[in-house]
Amino acid sequence: MLVHYHEIGLKGGNRPSFELKLCGNLEHALAGLPLKSVRRLPGRIVVTFEPAADPAEVTERLSWVPGLESFSPARRFGLELDRVAEAAAEAVVSRMPASFGVKARRGYKSVPQSSQEIGALVGAAIVARTGLPVDLKKPELWVRVEVLPREVLLYLDRHRGAGGLPVGTAGKVVALVSGGIDSPVAAWRLMKRGARCVFLHFHSHPFTDAASQEKTLEVVERLARIQGISVLYSCPFAELQKELVARAPAPLRVILYRRFMVRVANVVARRERALALVTGESVGQVASQTLQNMATVDAVAELPVLRPLVGMNKNEIVAEAERLGTYEISIQPHGDCCSFLMPRKPATTSRPDELAALEKEWPVDEWVAATCARLGRRLVQPPGAVAPREAMLAVDAIV
Ligand code: ATP
Ligand code: MG
Repeated sequence: MLVHYHEIGLKGGNRPSFELKLCGNLEHALAGLPLKSVRRLPGRIVVTFEPAADPAEVTERLSWVPGLESFSPARRFGLELDRVAEAAAEAVVSRMPASFGVKARRGYKSVPQSSQEIGALVGAAIVARTGLPVDLKKPELWVRVEVLPREVLLYLDRHRGAGGLPVGTAGKVVALVSGGIDSPVAAWRLMKRGARCVFLHFHSHPFTDAASQEKTLEVVERLARIQGISVLYSCPFAELQKELVARAPAPLRVILYRRFMVRVANVVARRERALALVTGESVGQVASQTLQNMATVDAVAELPVLRPLVGMNKNEIVAEAERLGTYEISIQPHGDCCSFLMPRKPATTSRPDELAALEKEWPVDEWVAATCARLGRRLVQPPGAVAPREAMLAVDAIV
């Protein structure tokens, strides 16, 4: 596979570290497949496999690695251009397009011919074999040849990569994931900008069943395919919710839950040295997601609260969740809002000082500390990867 990367090209002096990070991420993404080597060349990465590698599986995995602009399954040859030309003609015969063009690139002077001469040589072999017309502007099929220091690559297809930046180049964020449709998409958006997500889920067990936790685990497994082994914190929230239900006016409950979620997220972020929090909110989607309520929640955050979906419509988010493969998981029913916890008419507007005045009467720090003492932390890895899921579940530990 010849991998071309996305915005890394823009990073000047940081470029080598970005490239190294991407190489490591590629190795993780391809773990378990018969991989031979991942090599860094100026402007590109060459990944080689044992013959047993399944091209469909490789393509699927690579398509989710942030930072790739494109990747192309290529055939490798020694520095023998005649053999390359012959193989190119063979490959074109199997496609028989209406027209073709050859793009040759000699980044190294490992063969005497210039890029142009290589293009002409390969093109002539294809014409001799097929009689097809050459079109160097908009051919139906591009035949690409890349000359490397000790080998030549030949390829016809180019798959689009996920784009963005390699995970791990932007630092860590704590992504609040609910088991709903939106939050996994929000996390994905940040991964694509180079952030590594630490996941945090709040559940109301025993008021609700374990479905939201199961769903969240599945969602995080899906996302772990993109960023590799991931950390998932799960927070039993029922005790705290019980206190809030007993003491606060019903319309303010949801906004209070959010403020306490953020306080717990502050603690997790400190522990993980994360640089921001991430939520799946978008303006006006539900009562708790008005601009006023967002400000009221942000008032207790110690870090920026990033809301990458803030300007998106639900149907746009759903389409992205479908592409991501989390939609199917998210729409499974779960007892998110048992009627006892959720008010019938949540407030659409609130002020930080109003909530602060209410909370001043309560032992907020104590509640947060008690809730954090119940936090569970587990490692989640992509399905089918090195260790079976059961083994990972066993890592579940109280921190
Ligand atoms: P989602 O599909 O992400 O659940 P939603 O439309 O259901 O979004 P809300 O339930 O209002 O929206 O939640 C808004 C955001 O708050 C979520 O996107 C998520 O980031 C965070 N959040 C809500 N509930 C939880 C939870 N139980 N655990 C962790 N984060 C949560
Ligand atoms: Mg939700």
